Amino acid sequence: MEKRLRLAPSPTGLFHIGTARTALFNWLYSKKVGGKFLIRIEDTDFIRSKSEYTNNILEGLNWLGLQWDEEPLKQSDRISIHKKYINKLLESGAAYRCFTTEDEISKLREEQKKKGLPPKHDNRHRNLSKEKIETFISQGKTSVIRFKIDEKIDIKWVDQIRGEIKWQGKDLGGDLVLSRRAMGYEIGDPLYNLAVVVDDNYMNITHVVRGEDHISNTAKQILIYEALDFKIPAFSHTPLILNSEGKKLSKRDCVTSIDEFRDMGYLPEALANYMAFLGWSPKSAENEILSLDEISKIFDLSDINKAGAKFSWEKLNWINSQYIKNLEPVKLSEIIWKYWENMGWEPPSQEWANKLAILIRDSMTLLKDSIDQSKPFFLIPTIQKEGQDFLETPESKLSLKLILNYLIEQNSIKLNKEKAKEIINEISKKHNIKKGILMKSLRVAFFGSLSGPDLIQSWELFAESKTDRTRIERCL
Ligand code: GLU
Repeated sequence: MEKRLRLAPSPTGLFHIGTARTALFNWLYSKKVGGKFLIRIEDTDFIRSKSEYTNNILEGLNWLGLQWDEEPLKQSDRISIHKKYINKLLESGAAYRCFTTEDEISKLREEQKKKGLPPKHDNRHRNLSKEKIETFISQGKTSVIRFKIDEKIDIKWVDQIRGEIKWQGKDLGGDLVLSRRAMGYEIGDPLYNLAVVVDDNYMNITHVVRGEDHISNTAKQILIYEALDFKIPAFSHTPLILNSEGKKLSKRDCVTSIDEFRDMGYLPEALANYMAFLGWSPKSAENEILSLDEISKIFDLSDINKAGAKFSWEKLNWINSQYIKNLEPVKLSEIIWKYWENMGWEPPSQEWANKLAILIRDSMTLLKDSIDQSKPFFLIPTIQKEGQDFLETPESKLSLKLILNYLIEQNSIKLNKEKAKEIINEISKKHNIKKGILMKSLRVAFFGSLSGPDLIQSWELFAESKTDRTRIERCL
């Protein structure tokens, strides 16, 4: 049978790293078993759901390379179907109308709180007579639909990550509300636990992989599956992502939405690679730099850890820097070209841009580091104190003069790396100046300081952008 997995995000906020990692685990497993990865937008919270969040989630999935296999389903399109199933549960006696008012519920909570008990509904309207229901309705009272939960029932399932999980009916908070309040004999808008079961069944979902915060929902949902005579899928509950203090990663930890990671300069392949290892420990992987296709081949739900996964910026940065180093120069320059464009910097040619990308890629952790690293190639840097001091030495001025004269005399040469080395060698021999001095002097002229990337390669770029002479002249 085809294995079918899904991500069921609520579009009530930007695409969050926790949801993205859940998506990734679902996607990886669907690829591993040759199944399908589907999307259901759970947009039935009309106040908080926004279409811009749906777009943000879908764009984020695309950016990460997590393509879905069928047209996403919108939960709000299926409300009338959810209501049909609620009706079915009413008719079979598995559910009933509950007229308890908000005030009565608050009172009950207060009393439970005083006794140190957790909130739990007392199921007071479970066995209302037809006449009583009519009276309540004629008094204009609104009702929700509650699903009966047997206090004595044991609910068990074999979680693919956690092994056997057991719940008792008495720990589920009393009879479960399936729909919002409505007047008369109406059924109000369906709520999460009912809608999720009806839709997972409709989409033929065989494996539900979601965060551990849904474990108690799973217990409730299994009871609904049974009451509707639906086939129960396999469940997996993934560990939470924790911050460095071991608490659930949140907005307070600075970055949590996928957009923010993108804007900070992480490559999608690097972020996806990092997220896969966030809570997943493969039995066999010599290397942690793996593409999603490679990961999907060795991925298994049973290799996901039970314990929370600590988020590490150091590791994410390291993985990102590895991906940047391994990018094709053309691809890298194409990506960083956008950063240059934003700065108003224009590379003289594609080839020049590729060479600059190769030159700076080893010093980059984030894509936006390309700005600082390539700045001296677009703007002539001012000379720093250490550079000034060095230029005070007579040999350095002489070095720069000799180099400049050489360049003026051989005006028509195309300066490449070989030629640059030749110039240094020739001048060094002819004038008996150490190569180190010549190079240091040039470095100050080019970069304004005694540090910077490879000098000979840089020179080639400065020659092509026709700024090498200007940089030397300003020091004389
Ligand atoms: N809409 C729920 C959420 O975003 C879905 C949970 C589930 O996967 O069933 O948490």
